[in-house]
Amino acid sequence: MKIREIIKGQGKCLSFEFFPPKTPVGEEKLLKRIENLKVFNPSFISVTQHAGSDTLGKTKHIVRKLHDETGLTVMPHITCADPRRSELEPVINYYQQLGTENILALRGDPEEYGAEVFDGQEHFRFASDLVRFLATYQRFCVGVAVYPEGHLESPNLGLDTAHTRQKIDQGAEFGITQMFFENFHFYQMMDRFEQSGIDIPIIAGIMPIIDFQKVERFSELSGVEIPVPIVTRFEEIEDPDDVIKAGIDLATEQCLDLLENGVRYFHFYTLNRDEPAAMILNNLSSALG
Ligand code: FAD
Repeated sequence: MKIREIIKGQGKCLSFEFFPPKTPVGEEKLLKRIENLKVFNPSFISVTQHAGSDTLGKTKHIVRKLHDETGLTVMPHITCADPRRSELEPVINYYQQLGTENILALRGDPEEYGAEVFDGQEHFRFASDLVRFLATYQRFCVGVAVYPEGHLESPNLGLDTAHTRQKIDQGAEFGITQMFFENFHFYQMMDRFEQSGIDIPIIAGIMPIIDFQKVERFSELSGVEIPVPIVTRFEEIEDPDDVIKAGIDLATEQCLDLLENGVRYFHFYTLNRDEPAAMILNNLSSALG
């Protein structure tokens, strides 16, 4: 089923993002973790895809496995970086044959393989180009990335919004946000979107901090601000179990504030773990409804 319709039908959205495991043992662990999260009746799950090291092959493989074995709606991510434009069609046909109806269309991150890869020739330059290409299939509900603080390379928030608008004009039907730790960035982005006539569902991307160093590294790469009180809070914690507890508390507080402000769509960056998201959702159960 198309995510746009699932969200409409449920009146809310709950989704979990995973990356492709490297080994068969990792795959089995992931399946068990997803099984544990099924109790929350996810609207969909998604699988990332990065360039290089045959991650496209691994994404395709795990998408098929999750599709066959979980019974959930599984959305693959596709980037402009990998596959090349000439290799896109077989990849899309593969997903189409699986019964995939949803794709998250992304440019990918130049940090990892050099910005020159997006030359517009061998590779699409922007996610909007990939959205336009996917729209020609008239089969997929296409989602895109959106940025509460603006994308790192956007010169200003106005242009960031205009480029988001472009993705929607090319056919994107929902957006998922980059992680954010100050909710006012999300609320201000929603105001900007409203003023620009953007009215597709926007799903808040929640990153529970279960490994502070890892999240700090993501934040440096993506330009996402981790507010000083949060940095201080986590720098003072030594025991990794206490970090996880603090991360669950923080994400619970963040989601409660979002819920109080009418947000009903949540996407969890799980880093392939189940307990943190499960504990946050248990904490939120009465507010989520
Ligand atoms: P775009 O929308 O193409 O934007 C990239 C930059 O170009 C922005 O600064 C934008 O303002 C600018 N721009 C857009 N159009 C124009 C134009 N016409 N003229 C001038 N400038 C323009 N990365 C992966 O590699 N694999 C993944 O699986 C993955 N999953 C993600 C999931 C989510 C929910 C999110 C939020 C991000 C994900 N990313 C992933 C990261 C993403 O690829 C990066 O953030 C990347 O740097 C930008 O991708 P985009 O699709 O937003 O690009």
